[in-house]
Amino acid sequence: MVATGCTGGDDGGAATTAAPATTTANTPPTSQAPEQDQSATTLPPATTEALAPITTLRLAAPPDCATNPACADGLARVYGIDVSDLIVPTEPGAPMAAAVLEGAADVGVIFSDDPALDDPSLVQLDDDRTMVAAENIVPVAKMALVSDRGDALRDAIDQVTDSLNDDELRSALAAVRDGTSPEEAARTFAAATGEIDPAADAPIRIGAEAFPTARVLANVYAMGLSARGYPAVVVPIDGFRALEIAYMIDDEIDLSIQYSASLLEYLDGFQGRSSADSAATLSALRELLALAEYEAFAASPLQSRNTFVMRKDIAEANGIANLSDLIPLAPPADVAPAPGDLPELQDPFAIFGPGDLRIGSVGPEVRELQELLSQIDYYGGPLNGIFEEPTRRAVAAFQVDSGSAPDGIVGPITLVALREAVDAGATAITTELSTTGDSSGNEIHLTFDDGPSGEFTPQILDLLAQYDAKAVFFSIGNQVEGGAELLQRAVSQGHRIGNHTWSHASLDGMSADTFAGEVGRTQDAISAAINETPTCLRPPYGATDDQTRDRAAGLGLSVELWNIDPQDWSRPGVENIVSNVVEHAGPGAVVLMHDGGGNRDQTIAALGQILERLSADGYRFTPIPGC
Ligand SMILES: [Zn+2]
Repeated sequence: MVATGCTGGDDGGAATTAAPATTTANTPPTSQAPEQDQSATTLPPATTEALAPITTLRLAAPPDCATNPACADGLARVYGIDVSDLIVPTEPGAPMAAAVLEGAADVGVIFSDDPALDDPSLVQLDDDRTMVAAENIVPVAKMALVSDRGDALRDAIDQVTDSLNDDELRSALAAVRDGTSPEEAARTFAAATGEIDPAADAPIRIGAEAFPTARVLANVYAMGLSARGYPAVVVPIDGFRALEIAYMIDDEIDLSIQYSASLLEYLDGFQGRSSADSAATLSALRELLALAEYEAFAASPLQSRNTFVMRKDIAEANGIANLSDLIPLAPPADVAPAPGDLPELQDPFAIFGPGDLRIGSVGPEVRELQELLSQIDYYGGPLNGIFEEPTRRAVAAFQVDSGSAPDGIVGPITLVALREAVDAGATAITTELSTTGDSSGNEIHLTFDDGPSGEFTPQILDLLAQYDAKAVFFSIGNQVEGGAELLQRAVSQGHRIGNHTWSHASLDGMSADTFAGEVGRTQDAISAAINETPTCLRPPYGATDDQTRDRAAGLGLSVELWNIDPQDWSRPGVENIVSNVVEHAGPGAVVLMHDGGGNRDQTIAALGQILERLSADGYRFTPIPGC
């Protein structure tokens, strides 16, 4: 059922025309009868006919959704709904709304503090069975922090927490979305509470995960504590909760701004101990953290919870107002047994296993480490559970590639990064070696994902032209029509266009139908734009499964990953992007960068320097062979 190219609504559930009767029977008897043409014809591609039961529920959600008790896992457990296809857009908020509005997803998950929720074409589904727990913002630190710095620090932290409010946070996030830095947005936010007077010594290091709310809040606490006599700095973290906790354990940060329910569930192994009761959730979290001598300070009333949205016209036409209204329409989940008595609380940091592994360590943990390293081709030695020089070298090589100090010792940060690498791109390294081919020459293959972008793609094309560099642009299908001229210009300059799915969906575990919609539809759109059909597919997040290659091959596509990832999407600073690429560059290397998906000013500034330095080293820039 590849879309025939007319409107956006003809993939997904609409093709299963089987049983309209079911729908009618299950809609509530309100005055809004679910007749097809009842709803206002406000939206252009409106497919407001009654939904037939759907074989796949496509959910656009943040990266942690699969295991989040307030997301896919919760929909199965609490509502008995199976989320068959998870679509994880590049950034939270607006891209989720876009996926729902243009029909790539049936339901979207947006944080309750996100300005994208205000779109009048979206409707928020009521969580009528209380799946989403109380999710208050709560600062967490080792107890030693307060004993070192004195009890007045707790007051200072509590005062900053008290100053948080929903309106200020929302406007700060709206400013960040419009290009203001999190620091600037936080300055406006913090200015409401006290003068900002940065002092000098021994700053308190506050972790900031890689999403806008976390960056803004970390800056608000840093400024608020500084103003109260506790100099504080923000430590940006290129990852999410697991990595931030690892930073905390390794003493790379002192204070972490968390969400009460999510942190409780994460540390407790998703036992379902959080609830809609804020106080009960916080007290369970404190009890758990105390076992490992960590402290959760007072929580803010401010929450940031998963909120489920649908297109308003579709929801209204089908009488869907609550999450439970989806049950008769959505595929049923294998319902997990209802949680009985909760197990006793355990040391929450046991998830990181025993202490550091290093030369001389022996045992099953070392064997597991060797298996992880070998899965992504860093280790080819015996899986014998003995940490000797070959294991140390493999660890150090991985640490270099993941951007941490190559000390050859496996602490929590390395372990988290390693598990994430295995989960996200298990096939990355073997594939890139087989696709790049020529490792003896002087060619480097630049790639740009997530475009085309009217603002950033032209600047990148200009820079590439200055160095006679040819690249591959992996385009997102739903941006192709609006960016057709950019793609034509790229092709006329000698660049190649590849497929990066219709809505930046993770292809891992995806059904065949959705794959056809995501990848096949993008092939059609690109062919229409440039008169050539792409031959290369870049899976978002590098995520693939056993079927991805075969399905791609069926559409004439080879799967192309990368081996240099400077994480430019996370805006780590121009210097970081440049040094990451230049230091890892070698013949046949494939570099991942982005011309869309957010503000790319850093990418563009870095690209100029990268082209300059690598050209001077004698490299030429050519498309990935075969793309
Ligand atoms: Zn991408």
